[in-house]
Amino acid sequence: MNGNINNPTPVERCIFCDPDPSALIYKSDEGIVVVDYPFAKGHVLVASPVHATNLHDLDPKAAASMMALACKVSKRIVKEFGAVKTYVVAIGDKDPHFHVHLLPKWKDSDNLGPHVFGESGWAHGSEVNLSDDDISQLRNLLQSV
Ligand SMILES: [Zn+2]
Repeated sequence: MNGNINNPTPVERCIFCDPDPSALIYKSDEGIVVVDYPFAKGHVLVASPVHATNLHDLDPKAAASMMALACKVSKRIVKEFGAVKTYVVAIGDKDPHFHVHLLPKWKDSDNLGPHVFGESGWAHGSEVNLSDDDISQLRNLLQSV
């Protein structure tokens, strides 16, 4: 695992290009799977194999390939660890590889949604009302995706 007290992670070290051997789970042309400060058994990071910080920085085929790997990993976590599902979280504030966290949800776990969007969540009270023009603009922008 990266960043323990006896072996601090240098700021320049990329946890995906140069992962701690004990943290590297899988690496291929599709992507890289590592464990880094896990919140639960089965919490892994699935990253693009190339430096591209944000989803919009990736080639769509590379993004599809990485998400195919995330899908396979998620299926294994559910099957082998007995998770109900995995939450897929992408934040991207720190690392130079676009990546997703796969967070297992267990049978008796609370739903994550209310913690993110509900009364205790970061977004509560900051919702905006989109106008019909805003919705039309989105529709027009995404007509040719
Ligand atoms: Zn890297």
